[in-house]
This record gives sequence, structure tokens and C-alpha cells, in this order.
Amino acid sequence: MTIAPARHFIGNEFRDSLSGQTFDVISPVTEQVVTTAARGGVDDVAAAVRAAKDAFDGGEWSRAKPSFRRQVLMRAADLIDARYPEINRREALEMGHPTGNPVQGPSRSAWNLRFFAMEQELAGDHSFNRDDNLRTYTMCDPVGTFALISPWNAPFMLSTWKLGPAIAYGNSVVHKPSELSPLSIGVLGEIFVEAGMPAGAYNTVLGYGKEAGSPLVEHPDVVGVSFTGSPGTARDIAARVAPQLKRTSFELGGKSAVLVFADANLPKCVATVAAGIFTNSGQLCIAGSRILVERKVYDQFLELFVAESKKWVPGDPMDPATKLGPIVSKAQYDKVMGYIELARSEGRVVAGGGRPAGLETGYFVEPTIIVDAAPGARVCQEEIFGPVAVVIPFDTVEEGLAIANDSDYGLAGYIWTESQTTAHHVAARLQTGMIWVNCFFERDLRQPFGGVKQSGLGREGGGYSREFFTETRFVSFPLIPR
Ligand code: NAD
Repeated sequence: MTIAPARHFIGNEFRDSLSGQTFDVISPVTEQVVTTAARGGVDDVAAAVRAAKDAFDGGEWSRAKPSFRRQVLMRAADLIDARYPEINRREALEMGHPTGNPVQGPSRSAWNLRFFAMEQELAGDHSFNRDDNLRTYTMCDPVGTFALISPWNAPFMLSTWKLGPAIAYGNSVVHKPSELSPLSIGVLGEIFVEAGMPAGAYNTVLGYGKEAGSPLVEHPDVVGVSFTGSPGTARDIAARVAPQLKRTSFELGGKSAVLVFADANLPKCVATVAAGIFTNSGQLCIAGSRILVERKVYDQFLELFVAESKKWVPGDPMDPATKLGPIVSKAQYDKVMGYIELARSEGRVVAGGGRPAGLETGYFVEPTIIVDAAPGARVCQEEIFGPVAVVIPFDTVEEGLAIANDSDYGLAGYIWTESQTTAHHVAARLQTGMIWVNCFFERDLRQPFGGVKQSGLGREGGGYSREFFTETRFVSFPLIPR
């Protein structure tokens, strides 16, 4: 697959960097340069924000009828569906996810747009009438230009999850995708032009965090930042925007616990728990990476889980039969391998633990299972972001909950039990933003996606996104003339 150099998308045009600089896009499979991408800097950010602000002030999108915005976004969603095979291949090329096993399936990105296209048109404002003499009503207005900053692990889907609501509610956006995944997003610029999006409402600047991301969040004409990535970057962004008091939404990392109780349906549980840590090579914010198993079924679970892990055979992401692709980059590969080395002293590696035989090139890691590590060990506490699970026994519900909650993170929690009482009791006590019982990542987009503790601040999804991406105001007027 020949790929043209990736470029910024500003004011409905693809552009090179004003400096002329580029950076290499490396395939995690071949470790070779695939193409180059425009390396954005402060001047490119300024041009994109200007285009976005002009579009917002012009009103062609920001003051358009909701039905017009719905039509454009629906057309864009249809075009995403039509071009999904290409988007899927581009994602596989830039970050290595298996084309036959993409995160959340091919249709989710299009659904992100359709969902918010309908949400913004159907959601009504409130009217509160204190008594016969006082009428009040709320209004939700678009705010201005938002900075959207996204990671590489599900690049296209996570981008549409932000820009869907941001533009649906009438804002303009400048999107900065990860420097590790600048290819798939280029298709979206073409799609929005074809769908009839007014120029400037949607813009993308490619490049590195410090060079393109920092000037973007600091730009005085940017009213808010929706960020998905690591807690360290979120802290940096929070500090940069604090003097301007901008609104921020942070979707961050996790070390999510899976609690497997003795009465769980083990065959179903084992297959789903494996998918929860090995899908996308474990490069999922909501990966169930700490698997806590009631001691009565610990040996049985471990035997089944090790056998299940062998089904996740690493291979070429372009082969539709492949379930497990490589790690995104050399730096991330070294980090994952470092944790596996650490696991040999903090515990024991009982499955995987290295580069798969026969794959001498590429950032491939075997599905790996660690046991006998103390719950406080680094491999049990830190986000590895690779196909690496740690399995820990517990004896009582209270002990399981204590281990699960002993974490700086609080993104997702998983409960496996046939007892509704246990499920509700544990759900009430788990300190996480999202809880899945007997399943993995089943979504309704109206629910608030997000985490507690170091896993995030704010929620996105349905009306929660509306609240973030709009300015809510009210008007109050007495009916009796004064
Ligand atoms: P990262 O924080 O390194 O980068 C994320 C994005 O921020 C990239 O586009 C990067 O270029 C940009 N960036 C980096 N430094 C910046 C700065 N100083 N100012 C502005 N932008 C900057 O994270 P990553 O390695 O790309 O992604 C992996 C992390 O994302 C993991 O911790 C994972 O759990 C998390 N994640 C969270 C969710 C969620 O919804 N909670 C979803 C996916 C990934």
C-alpha cells in the first residue's frame, strides 16, 4: 500500500507545514519508514485556530440549523462506512492493529457521528416555571474553538468520539492526533469536504505534543481542551491552561481490575477476560490488566487462561485472520519488555514473556501472564499498555475489593459472578468510573465514559458531552409587567 505524505487539514485544504518540516511514520511491523507527515509548529497551529475562529464567527456552521448539521454529519458517517476498509488499513499500517479484529468494530466511528448528529437535534432545552409569574428557560450554545488531542491506540475511533460532539453542537475544532498515528485521520478531511462541511469548522494539525499540542492548548482563541492520553500529559496541559481558566476534559490511563468470583461462568469468563487484555495488544485504556480470582477457582482459572492466551497468536495485522498485532513503537515495545523483565523478579511469568518465535522483525510481544506478584508490586500498579496480565488470588469479597481499589487509577472495573447480589454489592464499592458485569466494553453512547482518581476528570458521552461542548445559560422573565 503506497501512502502519500500526511498533511495538515486547515480551512478545508490539505497543507504542508509552514516550516516545510516533516517527520517519519514508522511501520511497527517492518520497522521501516512508511511515509512522512507534516511536522506542525506554532505557526501551523496559529493558522488552524484562525481558520476555526473565522468559521465560528462567520456562523455558517455555529449558527446553522441543527437539521443542517445533522445532514452533514450523517453524510460524513455514510462516507466513513464506505471508506472504512481504507481507514482500517491505514490504522493497521500506522499503529499495527489487526485489520480483522479492530477495536469496537468498523462501524463505531460512523456511529459516533450519527449519534451526536441526532443528539444535538433531538435534545431539548429546559423550561422551569417557578410559578404563574416567572418563566425561565435554558439555552445551550456552541462555545467557540476546541482543541481536541487524541492518542494512537484507536486513532480514528477516538478522534470521532471527540470531534463528533464538538462539531455537532456547532463548535469549531482543531484536532491534534498522535504523532504515532497521522495517517488514518487524513481520510476524514476528504470526507468532510465531500459531506459539505463549511470550511474551517474542522481542522487538523499533525505533529509532536510539545511542538504542536502545547501551542494549541495555550492559544488564547481556544476555549477548551478535550484530551485523551496519559496522566503526565494531562497534568502538563492543566498547568498550561490554568492561567486562562479553560474548560478541560481528561480521559486518561488505567490499571483496571477484573474480579472473578467462584460462581462465575468460567469458560465464558476466561475467553472474555483474555479479549479484555489481549485485544489491540493490551493497548486499551480500559484493558482488564489486573485479574483478581477467588482462590477456590484460582488454579482452574489460571489453567484455562494460559490455554486461552495461546489462541492469541501474534502475526501480520494485514492478514484478516490475525488477532494480535505488534506494539505501536520501539519506545513502547521497550517499555513493555522492561515490565516483563521486572515481572521475573517481582513474580513469575507463566505464559509468553518475550518476542514470538518466527517474528524477528516488528514490535511483537507474546501474550504474557504474570503470577505470584504482590498486589503492591510495580507490575500490579503501573499501566503496562501491552498484552500483559497479572493474576492475583483473593479469599473474600472484602479482600478482592481492597486489592481492586488499591490503585492510583480508577477507569474501569469488571465483575464476573452469577450472583446479582454480589454484582451489585461489588459495583457499589468499586472505585472506578465504569463497571462491566459479565462482559467487556458493551456500550450505550448515552452513558458517561470516564474515570476517577488519576484516570480522568470529566465524562464524555450523550448529554455529558453536550454539557462539556456547550455553554449553558438561562433567561428568566416575570410575566407581570413592572
Ligand atoms: P500521550 O499522553 O503521550 O499522548 C496523547 C496525545 O497528547 C498525543 O497526541 C500527543 O502528541 C499529545 N501530547 C503529548 N504531550 C503533549 C503536551 N505537552 N501538550 C499537548 N499535547 C501533548 O499518550 P499516548 O501514549 O498517546 O496514549 C496512551 C495513553 O492514553 C494511555 O495512558 C492510555 O490509557 C490513555 N488512553 C485513555 C483513554 C480513555 O478514554 N481514558 C483512551 C485511550 C488511551
